[in-house]
Amino acid sequence: CGIVGYIGKKNAYNILINGLKRLEYRGYDSSGIALSNGTTRIYKKQGKISNLEDFVADKRVDGNIGIAHTRWATHGEPSDENAHPHQSQNGKITLVHNGIIENYAILKERLEEKGYTFQSQTDTEVLANLIEYVYNKIDNRSLEEAVRLSLEKVVGAYGIIVMCDDEPKRLVASRKGSPLVIGVGDNEYYIGSDATPLVEYTNQMIYLQDFNIAIIEENSFTLKTIQNNPVTPEIKRVDIQVDQLD
Ligand code: GLU
Repeated sequence: CGIVGYIGKKNAYNILINGLKRLEYRGYDSSGIALSNGTTRIYKKQGKISNLEDFVADKRVDGNIGIAHTRWATHGEPSDENAHPHQSQNGKITLVHNGIIENYAILKERLEEKGYTFQSQTDTEVLANLIEYVYNKIDNRSLEEAVRLSLEKVVGAYGIIVMCDDEPKRLVASRKGSPLVIGVGDNEYYIGSDATPLVEYTNQMIYLQDFNIAIIEENSFTLKTIQNNPVTPEIKRVDIQVDQLD
């Protein structure tokens, strides 16, 4: 339901938690966060964002890269296990997802035939395992290519941000039918399912279009289509005062 992401030099945790709170107005049943400083840590809890904060209080929150989610359950009841971020079976891929993977059942069946097992009832975990499966199978392994090829097999709606432990300084984001906005900072990027979590940090926004894939690093931003054609990012100035949000 709500997505926030960050890559840069700041501590990601505070930015992500504040961002999730900015998105609370959309409604949600659980929330979660993944932080990376080379290896990925995931914390997720059913209920209010304050439950997540209490849970994380005695845990490590370092890391300059992270993704976060508030969930509104469509597949699988509200629970800690079904909350996002979801991780692939072998831990390589971590992602947050808004929307519905309509053909998740058939994709899940195929992955189970390949030996994949599932921890949650969500359509989203299927996407995490699919990306990992494709990543391990392709010759020139890259997260970008694994996401691209996986999304070609997906029917449904999605806004996603994906992290990969083998490519720890990169985020890959994509959308179809579910909005994603990139906030451009100074050698840093913010990502949101709408601009409200971003406007306190920057007014330079790139609105992803359907079937766009963004490859985001601290110092670089590349945009492509799912057919692998380059797209020139269009930066828009968005002036929303933070006090208009409070
Ligand atoms: N379909 C996903 C789930 O049920 C995502 C729902 C959402 O957009 O929050 O977990």
